[in-house]
Amino acid sequence: MKEIAVIGAGAAGMMAAIAAAAKGAHVTIYEKNDKAGKKIYITGKGRCNVTNVAENSEFFANVCRNPKFLYSSIYSFDHDMVMDFFEQNGCPLKVERGGRVFPVSDHSSDIIAALLRVCKKKGVKIRYNCKVTSVEYTDDAVTGIVIVGKEKASCDSVIVCCGGMSYPSTGSTGDGYRFAREAGHSLNKACPSLVPFEVREKWPLALQGLSLKNVGLKMYKNIAPEVGDKAAKGSKKKKAVYEGFGEMLFTHFGISGPLILSASTAYEEGCEYILHLDLKPALSHEMLDKRIIRDFEDGRRKEFRNVLGGLFPSKLIPVIIELSEINPDKKVSEIDKAERTRLVNITKDLTMTVTGTRGFNEAIITRGGVKVSEIDPSTMESRFRKGLYFAGEVIDTDAVTGGFNLQIAWSTGYLAGISAAERTEYES
Ligand SMILES: Cc1cc2nc3c(=O)[nH]c(=O)nc-3n(C[C@H](O)[C@H](O)[C@H](O)COP(=O)(O)OP(=O)(O)OC[C@H]3O[C@@H](n4cnc5c(N)ncnc54)[C@H](O)[C@@H]3O)c2cc1C
Repeated sequence: MKEIAVIGAGAAGMMAAIAAAAKGAHVTIYEKNDKAGKKIYITGKGRCNVTNVAENSEFFANVCRNPKFLYSSIYSFDHDMVMDFFEQNGCPLKVERGGRVFPVSDHSSDIIAALLRVCKKKGVKIRYNCKVTSVEYTDDAVTGIVIVGKEKASCDSVIVCCGGMSYPSTGSTGDGYRFAREAGHSLNKACPSLVPFEVREKWPLALQGLSLKNVGLKMYKNIAPEVGDKAAKGSKKKKAVYEGFGEMLFTHFGISGPLILSASTAYEEGCEYILHLDLKPALSHEMLDKRIIRDFEDGRRKEFRNVLGGLFPSKLIPVIIELSEINPDKKVSEIDKAERTRLVNITKDLTMTVTGTRGFNEAIITRGGVKVSEIDPSTMESRFRKGLYFAGEVIDTDAVTGGFNLQIAWSTGYLAGISAAERTEYES
């Protein structure tokens, strides 16, 4: 029986091992941690948003980079098959808002337990505390791996499932990129994505802990004028790079929450970004003005600071007052149209300047990785080395939140496992 070595017992690695073992291969997973699925454990705030029931066409629309590369893997093992896999292996699932799928128990540990049960059933060996340091080749074909401490293990195929660089405490520290580079692959630069933003303004810090639902967000990239563009006179052009609607959270460093994480998929390091937050996206400027006039009439004898409770959560009121530059003690009957217009404009357009992201330590996903043009999408095999496969986040493809990133790991892992096992069978 031919040998397959899988590097990494994360989502992609365990699924690759199970798929290969189910095809009759002898599979060993090498994991540098003392347990499997450390990252799966923290997914979905400990509940694991395991996949999404979106139709495949909708799935691809949620993939930020290189969706076409994923066609074969997704059609080989789509969300229905993922759901069947977990349900048939003792982990019942439920579908929540936005098509997000979770274990009925709300415990990510049940997803890991199901994977480990199937690994055991299929005879997959898992070697913990085994950090792989290199992959060995003769000519252009895989011959084995080297484990830290110089121990060597021979094998016919290696599936690199080391993840990216986000949340390095879970074990994903970019080793897969080194294995790819040493095999002759080129990489698109790894960057943190689905990551909170730090902002220049001081007022968001005063809102720490406040969560806002149903807000609108537009993100613009500042573009320096072309050299010689006299008309621009040093001013920067703005290019819209993201527009969305949903929930956000103010934190001790800036802003986070699903809407901000989604916006971060359009962020590139070294560029300047301005965020425009619409606190009342369902109301036009005119509708909001009428609503404020009504509130002011109802509270005619009250001071400005006491009439905003119907429009904003209490924590936000002092910030809105400060930014509107309206005297908080002024009677609302004395507030003039210009002041009201300022209040409308601030409500419809709270501006923040992004100074950076929270980096890999707080990024849900790594953007970039092994170039997809150098991997065969129908097998996940390297185009440069026979018997070398890639699966999961190590590849340059990523998606927005909603269970899509784990689906990428399950699908690419499954296809790599099947392909490695079939190649092994074919050659034996
Ligand atoms: C906080 C958080 C929440 C998330 N929530 C969700 C969610 O709810 N839904 C969703 O779809 N996605 C979610 N994601 C993203 C998702 O978890 C990842 O996309 C997915 O786990 C990637 O799987 P992977 O197998 O490619 O890599 P990983 O899960 O990172 O696994 C890589 C494994 O390889 C091991 N390894 C690395 N190098 C070596 C080496 N040299 N030798 C041996 N072993 C090695 C690591 O220890 C690790 O166990 C979340 C991510 C984070 C950080």
